[in-house]
Amino acid sequence: MARINDSYLKLKAGYLFPEIARRVRTFAEAHPNAAIIRLGIGDVTEPLPPAIVEAMQRAVGEMSRRESFRGYGPEQGYDFLREAIAEHDFRARGCDISADEVFVSDGSKCDTGNILDIFGIENRVAVQDPVYPVYVDTNVMAGRTGAATPEGRYAGLVYLPCTEANQFSPALPDEPVDLIYLCSPNNPTGTALTKSALQGWVDYARRNDAIILFDAAYEAYITDAEIPHSIYEIPGARDVAIEFRSFSKNAGFTGTRCAYTIVPKTLTGAAADGGRHNIHALWTRRHTTKFNGVSYPVQAGAAAAYSPEGRQQIRELVRFYLENASLLRSGLERAGIQVFGGVNAPYIWLKTPGGQSSWDFFDALLTQAHLVGTPGSGFGSCGEGYFRLSAFNSRQNIEEALARLTKFVG
Ligand SMILES: *Cc1c(COP(=O)(O)O)cnc(C)c1O
Repeated sequence: MARINDSYLKLKAGYLFPEIARRVRTFAEAHPNAAIIRLGIGDVTEPLPPAIVEAMQRAVGEMSRRESFRGYGPEQGYDFLREAIAEHDFRARGCDISADEVFVSDGSKCDTGNILDIFGIENRVAVQDPVYPVYVDTNVMAGRTGAATPEGRYAGLVYLPCTEANQFSPALPDEPVDLIYLCSPNNPTGTALTKSALQGWVDYARRNDAIILFDAAYEAYITDAEIPHSIYEIPGARDVAIEFRSFSKNAGFTGTRCAYTIVPKTLTGAAADGGRHNIHALWTRRHTTKFNGVSYPVQAGAAAAYSPEGRQQIRELVRFYLENASLLRSGLERAGIQVFGGVNAPYIWLKTPGGQSSWDFFDALLTQAHLVGTPGSGFGSCGEGYFRLSAFNSRQNIEEALARLTKFVG
């Protein structure tokens, strides 16, 4: 008898985005003339920067000729890309990371899920609340949790509340944990962890022999000089942290697919017999066994993100989305709405007016202003009473959305 992985039965059936889609569809069918603007989805809208497109086209040309054709590449990525990453994203910021600690992949979503392969089932896992759902669901799939409560919290996970009261920077847990997911700049709250907050987490991990899984997918959006771009800017982090980065949100690679994970060679974990083992060696084994590398044209495109022209074009792309965020922020503030985020991230996290529930605000915004956002409660129980707006859109749509929002609130 072929048995399934019963843990999958514990998953809440992908509730958030299907439910949003269902409500939007119902409204659109009843109001076919409503020009609905979607500010809900965390996907980029602008085309790839030209320096990246040109590099990819050149690489496709190489693949078309026998003398420059390439087959399988190294599973961890080509040296030209790993070197560029280590140099520009880490050593230029004073972080001691070498090219052989960089693992190139086809996405951070997969990496944050796949990393669980190398960790024991008995690890106690902490996540922020609200949270990027991938961290939670992949732990459910791995069998590390019990059933979900009606609010969507899983028994066996430690939830770290991130609210206005702690400025969305979670307190250290008061029970022991072994793996800690931190996302900064944060999806969904759009806020970022300060140097001292991150130092607190690194010190915690060192004291408790824990490992931090640091998701920095929105690193390029940091504008505040005091916010660390990498966890390795924090002294001692090399011994306790793995960092996930992606070309999705800075270079517009959501449909092109390239990301990377940093696993320092100094990071170790305990085996059942108490012996210490090198995490870099385990992840090398996992990555080279289950993954066969990112396509050459895509890696060539990713490397062009570090050329002088590529860097300039990416800066402009990020600036464009940050201007959208700033327009949304200031417009909402003028309308008397309390807003967070949007300064170091492409997301605005607003407090629903009059203490409305996230879903009540969603329905009112959809039916009265024909705008779609994401209910904060869909990211965790601490998101109730909040609402996420994304700055990934055309300027025209942002301006139109803002005019409607102002009228809607006023
Ligand atoms: C968009 C995003 C990523 C990037 O995922 P990819 O698979 O690289 O596209 C990672 N983490 C968070 C929190 C994100 O929002």
